[in-house]
Amino acid sequence: MTRAVLASGNPGKLREFAQLLAPLALELTPQSAFGIEPAEETGATFVENALLKARHAARHARLPALADDSGIEVDALGGRPGVWSARFAGPAANDAENTRLLLRELAGVPDSYRQARYQCVIVWVRSVGDQAPLIAHGTWEGHIVHAGRGSGGFGYDPVFVPEGEQRTAAELPAAEKNTVSHRGQALTALVAMLKGAGYIAAP
Ligand code: IMP
Repeated sequence: MTRAVLASGNPGKLREFAQLLAPLALELTPQSAFGIEPAEETGATFVENALLKARHAARHARLPALADDSGIEVDALGGRPGVWSARFAGPAANDAENTRLLLRELAGVPDSYRQARYQCVIVWVRSVGDQAPLIAHGTWEGHIVHAGRGSGGFGYDPVFVPEGEQRTAAELPAAEKNTVSHRGQALTALVAMLKGAGYIAAP
């Protein structure tokens, strides 16, 4: 069994990681269980922030670390909020406040100009100084609706309708979201890399 620390405290993400990784020979402990405070997300890109978080967790837990950085890019807003998704409405903003601001900024934008996508970068470092981190990426295309629907998922899910869907991401059952989402795709790719590198045993 491989032991590692998960560099996230976001309950929505923790739930999705636990569901996605359950079948693996991987014992993943959230950094909060080690008393590790979240790293400051000072990077300009998802890759930089994911690496910052992973190195921070690996340094303090003295274990391999898994971290993700994710967000939503809205075309009509020039790609915002992007890496600022969690803090769109301010440093302490919650999901509802961020989503309200997003809908306000898109007020009057017609349906055909409301394209958006979730991005997720997941990295694995073997230690704080790992010179060859594993980096995986997933993208989930869709558009932003005019009013929120559904109570599943987290973040912007109530206003995000994936391509080819009528339901919002918050109306999809968790297992369905996990199979197709940006995080699901990135994690599937990362798990293949981990197995390929021999870092975790195939189940
Ligand atoms: P961070 O990766 O901790 O910087 O935060 C990413 C932010 O992007 C979250 O707080 C959400 O606002 C948004 N986000 C990322 N993934 C998802 C998702 O699967 N559903 C809804 N919102 C998401």
